[in-house]
Amino acid sequence: MAFKEPQVDSFHWLVDMLESVEVGLVVLDLDFRVQAWNGFMENHSGITASRIRDKVIFDVFPDIPQAWLARKVDAVALLNTRAFTSWEQRPYLFKFRNTRPITGTEEFMFQNLTISPLSGPSGQVEKVCLMVYDVTDIASSKRALERANEQLAKLSMTDRLTGLLNRGTWENLVDAEYERYRRYGQATSLVMFDIDHFKKVNDTHGHLAGDEVIKHTATVTKNNLRQSDTAGRYGGEEFGIILPETDAEGARIICERIRESIAQSVVETTVAPIEYTISMGIAQLSDGPENYMQWMQQADKALYAAKEGGRNRVVISNHDPS
Ligand code: GH3
Ligand code: MG
Ligand code: MG
Repeated sequence: MAFKEPQVDSFHWLVDMLESVEVGLVVLDLDFRVQAWNGFMENHSGITASRIRDKVIFDVFPDIPQAWLARKVDAVALLNTRAFTSWEQRPYLFKFRNTRPITGTEEFMFQNLTISPLSGPSGQVEKVCLMVYDVTDIASSKRALERANEQLAKLSMTDRLTGLLNRGTWENLVDAEYERYRRYGQATSLVMFDIDHFKKVNDTHGHLAGDEVIKHTATVTKNNLRQSDTAGRYGGEEFGIILPETDAEGARIICERIRESIAQSVVETTVAPIEYTISMGIAQLSDGPENYMQWMQQADKALYAAKEGGRNRVVISNHDPS
């Protein structure tokens, strides 16, 4: 008796501890009947231990992937060894609502799971213990980091003001289109364009209003392109467009649409309503250019001719594309 009492005592506080620990503890027999269900499981599922006792876990939680868990438990019982699954392989075993205030962005609790064998007096594995760890904090910050990295990768390809591709990215695509032409020889056109008398816009209305005009130009351009066309911001108020599967005449139609749309619009900036125009140069790719830069120079020359010709116009490069 003298030494029995402390044992009963320690049994009590051990159970207390298992009841209140911030880890889900579930004991299943090998027919998947629940033998133990601690406080963590009660709190998050809303199901009491007395209600779930001896029930088959799959009957109470039909969302649990039965074949998967059965395979895991069989392996644990057979090999008498632990098994582990992280939230990255399977976000959760029990679909519990996420109740943590700081990770409120996640709808469900992310869980790591350990399955341990529990042997009977004969040494045979008769039951298994599932330990369910709430790892929502870790999962949530890792996912946020992944999202931020994705956004960063996107940002480094695009221009901040307009959302169009930046010069480096866009030029790489011009190069790729040039190489595609060398292989397949399909018609393809390049457009370079520039806002007319933009210095005057800046001088008259200020740099911020000038930025509004640049943004408007990008929006009109995007709205007039097809899925396969790619626009980029080449410089301050200079833009480029790649038009695959398009000959010079097809490109002219698209360019005229953009040019007219801009010439007819009024940009309502905070300073003043601004009207403006653009000039555009088109070069359909031929066997002439020896690299993509020469192709761009042809489009740029046509743009220069459009400026010389009086601006607010579209000029096709006079290099014979045939
Ligand atoms: P042109 O018709 O010959 O093109 O005349 P232009 O006045 O437009 O001349 P140009 O194309 O050389 O003008 C470029 C001007 O664009 C000069 C520069 O101050 C302005 N600029 C360049 N980048 C930006 C920008 O990001 N925002 C603003 N507001 N202005 C810019
Ligand atoms: Mg310019
Ligand atoms: Mg200009």
